[in-house]
Amino acid sequence: MHETPQTAPSPRLSPVTGENRPRLAVLTTGGTIAGRTSEDSRPGSYEAGVLSASDLLDSVPGLGNLADLELRPVFSLDSSSLTPEHWLELLRETLAAVRDPHLTGIVITHGTDSLEETALFLAAALSELAGARHSPVVLVGSMRPANAISAEGPANLLAAATLATHPAASGVMVVLNDSIFDPWSVTKAHTSRVDAFTGGERGLLGHVAAGRAVLYREGGHAELAAVLAKARAHAGRPLPQAVPARLGRVPLLTLHVGFDPGLLGVLGADADGLVLAGFGGGNLGAEALEAASALAATIPVVRGTRVSAGEVVENGLIDDDAAHFLILGDLSAVKARALLSWVLASD
Ligand code: ASP
Repeated sequence: MHETPQTAPSPRLSPVTGENRPRLAVLTTGGTIAGRTSEDSRPGSYEAGVLSASDLLDSVPGLGNLADLELRPVFSLDSSSLTPEHWLELLRETLAAVRDPHLTGIVITHGTDSLEETALFLAAALSELAGARHSPVVLVGSMRPANAISAEGPANLLAAATLATHPAASGVMVVLNDSIFDPWSVTKAHTSRVDAFTGGERGLLGHVAAGRAVLYREGGHAELAAVLAKARAHAGRPLPQAVPARLGRVPLLTLHVGFDPGLLGVLGADADGLVLAGFGGGNLGAEALEAASALAATIPVVRGTRVSAGEVVENGLIDDDAAHFLILGDLSAVKARALLSWVLASD
């Protein structure tokens, strides 16, 4: 990947006035950032996605100094309940905002549970429908509900708006806990801590401090475009011209000791594609390899890994050309699933 590092910080947070005042659309989808706990809740329990979009913005001092804000509630859900239809709805709203010449950027509030999948899905879809370097789309969530002690949602939201107004920002990004991540590598790696998200071996895209966003590098736009082109060529699917009616049905199966290879045929029978999270570097074991390779003759099959870091090497231990497997490098299995469901979308 040959991309120019973007080290320039954004201007400090101070009221911006006049014609150059940035304008942001804030799309809200629910999650803990809009969640509330009550005194009689069980410890650790709360309801996600109950705060209205305007309550959410009112909780962030200084936000109005940064930009004019357009509130656009999309849905209000715990992100573990999202369906492919929600993704398409969010894509339609985001695409309309990206194409709006009056908007500087877009902030999307989202639950953290499936945030990394939505980020990758939107990055893939927008890269093909709006071009790799479209205006910034920043996904943001929080680990603590809005009324918890030390709730970090307001600070995260302010960081997201700061990033979305950064002059060098483009494409889909994620912000939590003052850290900026790219959609390819961002991963929820802890169930409860406020520093739950990591960029793994690829590291951070940047950080936010003292009201400024600093970007260390670009967000891997070229790499994502190349991988999408590879997946499309493998699947024989042309570029979509508009938001499709439905996403491809792509189940994800994790290999484990005692895995029943018969599952491949059962799940594959009703699927448009399949992702396998194999052992180690994408190993499947002899029987599953045979069954997966038979399936790959009929639908696209990604040979991925259940390991959290490192790539699946194409045509290494396994002859992927002969087996007709699709290899997506170090993209996680859940994100490979999201990407393939986009590539296999239809009207
Ligand atoms: N269950 C919540 C959600 O993903 C978790 C969170 O937002 O932190 O909507």
